[in-house]
This record gives sequence, structure tokens and C-alpha cells, in this order.
Amino acid sequence: MTGLPHDRLGLTGLLVLGALVATGAAWPAEAREDADDRRQRHRLVRRHVAPEVADTGVLRAMRSVPRHYFVPRGHRSRAYENRPLPIGHGQTISQPLIVARMTELLKLDPEDAVLEIGTGSGYQAAVLAEIVDRVYTVEIIPELARRADAVLDALGYGNVVTRVGDGYYGWDERAPFDGILVTAAPSHIPPSLIEQLKPGGRLVIPVGPPYGIQRLMLVVKRTDGSLRQRSLGRVRFVPFRRGDTDAAS
Ligand code: SAH
Repeated sequence: MTGLPHDRLGLTGLLVLGALVATGAAWPAEAREDADDRRQRHRLVRRHVAPEVADTGVLRAMRSVPRHYFVPRGHRSRAYENRPLPIGHGQTISQPLIVARMTELLKLDPEDAVLEIGTGSGYQAAVLAEIVDRVYTVEIIPELARRADAVLDALGYGNVVTRVGDGYYGWDERAPFDGILVTAAPSHIPPSLIEQLKPGGRLVIPVGPPYGIQRLMLVVKRTDGSLRQRSLGRVRFVPFRRGDTDAAS
């Protein structure tokens, strides 16, 4: 996809977004704010993302996705700081730099199909949707999935499909995937995610104890089906929940 999502926003989209993220504000005010939001977004990418991420497609996506629509209204003024922010239900929208780094690690092509586990706000899914044709994203908390779906829809990301479920099992009906990205940390790599990766596909996933030190892992499935695994350093993600128990796997 090219161009700013706002260019695709119809009146309906604006009204839906107005209702979702700026209760009480009429849509023309939203539109006026946008030039400033865009400036802040470009500054964020220039200062915090571009020094560490080389992939031009990822940088373009980071400049395009309006992160302020994905954060709750009370945190909107901080939407273009390089930090995670609360999105309700004890969950967070990831820090922009980590979103960009994880996306870059997938080495995506435009025709790829990507699975994300942990939709949260929908922001990471939107960044992926700027780069690839098809994004499938699974969220275990129904309210978050509904809200993300509405925002993605209003912004015109018609190439993202959201589902409520336990991402431990991936999304068998839509498999295999060129890339899989997990944004909550399980204690081990869910076997289904390896199975649902195409030969040549890449899985990026934080692994480790809940609230402890986790490692960002890159798993590459070689064309012969064998796996190459690399640890890319320490990260901190919210725990991976399980459908039945709500406990970390
Ligand atoms: N990618 C998100 C980050 C959200 S935080 C964004 O851009 O905003 C991680 C999310 O993973 C949370 O919303 C949490 O509810 C979800 N999650 C945790 N365990 C899960 C599981 N087993 N299946 C699917 N989603 C899960």
C-alpha cells in the first residue's frame, strides 16, 4: 500500500474514528490535527527508528501509520514518543522502535502473507499491512480484537483479518505463512507456529518467563524444513496468555 491511510479515509471512516478515539471532537478538528501528528511521526522515525533500522519499506510504513489512532485518547499526546503505552486490559502497544525492528527481521516481500499473534491495538498489524498483501492477526481478548478491527477498518486497512482466539495454535486455515510475528512472550515456542511457517519463512518471537527477562528469537525454516534459531537480545513483552487457564504457557 502506498500513501497515507488518511488519504483513504472516507467520511464514514473519519466519523467512526471520531467516535472511537476522540469522543466529543468533531471530525474537522481531527483533520486539522493531522499535519502536526504527521510532523511528530516523521520526527519519531528520524530520531529513534532510522538510526537502527535500514529497511526502507519498514521506514516508509512507520512514517505512514497514524499511531495516535491506535492509542487510547488519554495517551494520544504521547503517541509519537518512542515508548510502549497502555491500551487497557493490562496490555500495551509496543514501542515504535521494537515494532520496526521485529518487522525488519521478517524480511518481507509485498506478496507475502503474515500472521501476527497478539493484535492488541492493531498498530503492528497496520505496519505489516503497509508492506505486505495479507495480514492475519489473532487476539485473545475479545474487546481488544473488536476495537483494533474497527480502527483498522476505519483507516482502510482492508488487507488485515482479525480473529479472536488463542494464538498458541496459530491460524491453521490460513497457513502457511511467509512470516509470523508474536507480540506477547510465551515460555517456549508454540509448535503450531513452526508448523505453519512456509519453507524459507521466518518467525520472530519473544521467549521467556512472564515479567522476567525474555529473549527475542528469530527462527528461520530452511527450504529443507530444518530450523535455524538465533537469539537477538533481551526484550520485555507482556505475558502470553492461554485460552483455558489465562496462565502463561
Ligand atoms: N501488537 C500489539 C501489541 C499488543 S500487546 C500492538 O501493536 O498493539 C500483546 C497482545 O497479545 C495483548 O493484546 C494480549 O492480549 C495478546 N495475547 C496474549 N496472549 C495471547 C494469545 N495466546 N493469543 C493471542 N493473543 C494473545
